[in-house]
Amino acid sequence: MISGRCAACKYLRRRCPSHCIFSPYFPPNDPQRFACVHRIYGASNVGKMLLKLPPHLRAQTADTLYMEAKCRIQDPVYGCVGIISHLHQQIRIAESQLAKTQAEIAVFNSIAREAQVQEIEADSNFFKNLLPEEITAAGLRSYGYGSPSTQTFKFN
Ligand SMILES: [Zn+2]
Repeated sequence: MISGRCAACKYLRRRCPSHCIFSPYFPPNDPQRFACVHRIYGASNVGKMLLKLPPHLRAQTADTLYMEAKCRIQDPVYGCVGIISHLHQQIRIAESQLAKTQAEIAVFNSIAREAQVQEIEADSNFFKNLLPEEITAAGLRSYGYGSPSTQTFKFN
């Protein structure tokens, strides 16, 4: 029966009652879990908190208390807030990288549009400066006609 004690009762060196409030949330195979929570909140306070809650919220509460206690032990000044602010900072960095990339895409798109417009203008200027018969010849050449057909009229 002694080996069946929960981590809390083992830690507190007491008998584990049949309806121990800690037993479902602090299994004996994870003594560190209760040690963290006890160090930060105190066993009595944790027991009171769990008793006040409806049973369906107790497991999540125990997980949260453990997570917060572990963070507080690792970072006594900021605790969980240290992790949250670190994640906020990562979000801000990602957002600024995203904004920078979107701005670069906009610049490249405008350069590509400008190049297209210049190409169209260059084509129209090319045709503007040609005589009507040259336009026909240039038009034919661009469709694969022109120079090869003139070779057929060559005399050897
Ligand atoms: Zn117990």
